[in-house]
Amino acid sequence: MSDVRDVVIVGSGPAGYTAAIYASRAQMNPVIYEGSVTAGGALMNTTEVENFPGFVDGVMGPDLMDNMRKQAKRFGAELITDDIVEMDLVGEIKTLTDGSGNVVKAKSVILATGSAYREIGLENEKRLSGHGVSWCATCDGFFFRDQTIAVVGGGDSAVEEATFLTRFASKVVLIHRRDALRASKIMVDRATSNPKIEFLWNTEVIDVLGDAKLSGLKLRNTVDGSESERAFTGLFVAIGHIPRSELIANQVTLNNEGYVEVEGRSTRTNIPGVFACGDLVDHTYRQAITAAGSGCQAALDAEKYLAHH
Ligand code: NAP
Repeated sequence: MSDVRDVVIVGSGPAGYTAAIYASRAQMNPVIYEGSVTAGGALMNTTEVENFPGFVDGVMGPDLMDNMRKQAKRFGAELITDDIVEMDLVGEIKTLTDGSGNVVKAKSVILATGSAYREIGLENEKRLSGHGVSWCATCDGFFFRDQTIAVVGGGDSAVEEATFLTRFASKVVLIHRRDALRASKIMVDRATSNPKIEFLWNTEVIDVLGDAKLSGLKLRNTVDGSESERAFTGLFVAIGHIPRSELIANQVTLNNEGYVEVEGRSTRTNIPGVFACGDLVDHTYRQAITAAGSGCQAALDAEKYLAHH
């Protein structure tokens, strides 16, 4: 049993790193698989985080994650920058395989794989991805200096991205399928007072135009059904996320949207010894602070499980 870890944490982000901080402080010697390209999670693609308690003047998303990572390391968590590509979670000893083919065995597993960007689902959206279509304003905004670009969505992400993109673009058109945003008031106020942002209400994108590069969008009015085309050189898609649960879908019980089901207010999944936290579980709050909180709960739940086994 000496090569069997007490706990393996899959996924970084605020949930995974917080679980690692708590698990290492509880002497559970956790190993955390941070992901090969997604280490740090969604906050790595944000700029300033203004609502994480304790940072009066805000903190840059990547800095916050770097601090959490260092904090986990300080208490002895083993950090591995690789993906887990296969998991056998049923049974007392869980077996996980990483992207390099290494196998790790564990008595308990904390799943914190987060969520991925949702796509509109258009063929040309995929084809022109990286050629004008993007899901990350902070990564790609720079390439659209002095251009007219579109952002699709009506939540905090879309409004935040639109506001951020005005640093580069000459004009940002926020395209939303309804006539009201679901974003928080502070974000909406900031966007509506920004002269570079135009709102296109009751509108959906039905095609992405362009041969080698994006040249425009085909739009449909969701009220009267009328269709039109408009020239853009960039499209940022910010229409929410889908949980990254495909790897465990045949073992762990998911709800009909693909989020992991947990027991009551705990992080316990249907499989003994397997816990889930962060955006993988949460389809309601999805904040850095709630993800961190649930990562803490997962570590405490795992600790309790190990104490009883
Ligand atoms: P969200 O709140 O789920 O909003 C998604 C938006 O995309 C909605 O406006 C939705 O329209 C629209 N949408 C969904 N599917 C669509 C489709 N197929 N075609 C066109 N539009 C579509 O997602 P989010 O903005 O990514 O935010 C996720 C969570 O993170 C939220 O809890 C948010 O508060 C949080 N967040 C917080 C901050 C911050 O505090 N600084 C920043 C970013 C995100 P409908 O409105 O019609 O449903």
